[in-house]
Parts: sequence; C-alpha cells; structure tokens
Amino acid sequence: MQSPLGRSRGKLPPLFTGQPFFYPFLVKTRIVPISASSLREACQILQGGDLVAFPTETVYGLGALGLRSDAVQKIFHAKGRPSTDPLILHLPSPDLNQAVTHHWMAAPIPPFANELAKKFWPGPLTLVVPKGAKVPLEVTAGLGTVALRVPAHPVAEKLLQELGEPLAAPSANRFGRISPTDASAVLQELDGKIPLILDGGPCPHGIESTVLSLLSDPPTILRPGSITAEMISEITHTEVWLQSKQKDPKSGMPSPGMLENHYAPQTPLYLCTAPIKSFASPYQFILYQNCPTSPEAQVHLLCPDGKHSTAAQNLYRVLREADQAASSAILIDPVPDSPWALALRDRLHRASAGTANWANGQWNLRPRETT
Ligand code: AMP
Ligand code: MG
Repeated sequence: MQSPLGRSRGKLPPLFTGQPFFYPFLVKTRIVPISASSLREACQILQGGDLVAFPTETVYGLGALGLRSDAVQKIFHAKGRPSTDPLILHLPSPDLNQAVTHHWMAAPIPPFANELAKKFWPGPLTLVVPKGAKVPLEVTAGLGTVALRVPAHPVAEKLLQELGEPLAAPSANRFGRISPTDASAVLQELDGKIPLILDGGPCPHGIESTVLSLLSDPPTILRPGSITAEMISEITHTEVWLQSKQKDPKSGMPSPGMLENHYAPQTPLYLCTAPIKSFASPYQFILYQNCPTSPEAQVHLLCPDGKHSTAAQNLYRVLREADQAASSAILIDPVPDSPWALALRDRLHRASAGTANWANGQWNLRPRETT
C-alpha cells in the first residue's frame, strides 16, 4: 500500500515547476445567466479545451476537461496556482464502478467507498482514492491518488451530464485568495483570464468540501467541511482520523490543500480570543452574531439568523466585504462550537495573520507563529 496520503509523486511535465505562473493572455470575461443556450455555450468552450467558472453547492469552481492535460494546465495558469497543489475531479455520476471502468480511479475500490458515495454523493464530500490511468498527472500534482466528488448543484450536474466526462475544478479564485461564492466574486478574481462565468446565484453551502483520504486505515479527513467525522464514521463503522498540519516527509511541503496560508483576504485578519465587545478603533469587525452595542459602520455579521450553516454560507462573502473596506485590519469573533465549527475554524486559521485581544483599553494584535 502507498503511504496513507498517497504521497509518492510521479514526474510532472517540465513546465510544472511548482512556481505560480500567470496566464499571459487577456480575454474578455462574460457573466451569463443560466439558460439552455448558456449551458450549451459553456459545454462548447470546455470541449474546446478552455475554462468556464460555474456554481457548485460549496463554492464556484473553475472548470476544465479533467482528462485533458492542456485544458487542466490552463487552470493553474489562470489561478497562479502551483502545480504541486492537486485538483478535485468532478464526476458526472456517483457510480464508482463506472469510474473504475473509465479508468478515472483504479481498482480495488477501497472498502466502504461505495457506501460513502451512495450516502453523500451528490454532495460536499471529496474522496481521495488510487488514480486511474486516464487521469493526467497535472490533476493529481504527480501523486498516485486522485480526489473525486460529485457536486450537488443543478448547474454543475447539468454541465457534467452534458459533457459525460469529469471536470477538474478548483475554487474559481486566484491562488491563496478567498474562494468565490457568487459570480461577481469570480469576476473580481479572474476578470480577463477566463471567457465565461455561469451565474447560478450564491452558493448554498459557502465553504469547500470535506476531503477524505481512503488511502489510510482508518480513513483520514485532510480538509474539514460540512460532512463531519461523525457522519462519515456512521457509514464506515470505523474511527475517522483528522489530519492537521502534516508535512510531507519527502518534500517538506504541507499535505495538499493543507497549506498554512490560504483563503486569505488582503487586509490582515486577526482571530479574537474572546467575543468582540469593543469597537473603538479604525478596524473592521466581523461578529458571529449581533451584539447590541455594535455600531453599524465597521461591523459585518456572519450568522444573523443564529444557524451555524448560515455562518458558513456567509463566511467568504463577509470576508470579501470587510476586505474591500480598505482598513488596516479585520478582527473576527471566535467561532462557537457546532458541527460546522471545525471547518470554519480551519478556514479562518489559514486566512489569519494572527490573534487579537482587548486589554488595557486597546486591541492588541499579535502575529501568528509560523510552523
Ligand atoms: P480546491 O483548490 O479548493 O479545489 O481544493 C482542492 C483540494 O483537494 C486540494 O488542495 C487538496 O486538499 C485536495 N486534494 C486533491 N487531490 C488530492 C490528492 N490526490 N491527495 C490529497 N488531497 C487532494
Ligand atoms: Mg481553493
């Protein structure tokens, strides 16, 4: 068996040095509403080997035909994403046997993979499994494993069914930046770099899928999301490990998708050690729930209805809004315990520049210790 995370890397094409590389050509980027003709146009662009941004239930994806190296390379160029960060392959069907027959993943199917697919697909669970021969190394960053999921969004489903083959699709933002949860956020990120954005309105979940490696026994969550260890464990009847900050022993790089800095606004973000009660400063404040003493200006609200899923849905939009206020820092409330807390804290930790606490009549900002 491979290492638990499937870390043995194959040889990457020479262009792929791990350095970000920006797509050099400017194109006109159009946002179009969903219709039969815009979906047809999206398919034509994708089949021509180009990129289309589309909504999923988690965040907007930047799609390319996942079995075509040249198309997949454009994703890395448009995002400025290093080639060492693998992509998720979005499948047209939740049938894993079909994925094996098409050589998208390799047999033997790990135990309980079928049960997980039946229970959670379409949906926000990504399974890391042995790679099939048809999947180009660009998708897997040279790894012998591939990350698969079936998105639960009518637009993504329709696109995939029309195409009848997988789409590689990371979040439709420039590398390291906040994931987009609506079409205008995609435009902010990728204007001039891609021809088409399908506008399916705001994404219902708002944070990225749970990534689960089936290469370890028991399985390991590589990235927490709305599908929790408890929910997975109910299906697998095993323990579920949680991977945190593991470095690849060979390259010294964090495990894929576990980069310490990610999802970040341009304004430094500080995680408050206690709920925010003082607003006496020029900073932007993100409150989890409303606080009666908060002034309207400078304050953004994550969870106005008290539902934790709403906090996830709003997280990236609110971070973007606070970022646009051009202040010197953004301070955010601690995330209270809930089934969503692990995923929210994970994203906020990686987006953060440090912690903040209120003492002696002022906010004290402390930079994050780097590991
Ligand atoms: P995103 O860029 O938001 O689409 O996230 C893609 C993430 O999927 C990566 O950053 C990893 O967390 C995960 N991933 C994709 N392929 C693999 C793989 N072969 N092994 C481990 N994790 C993977
Ligand atoms: Mg991303």
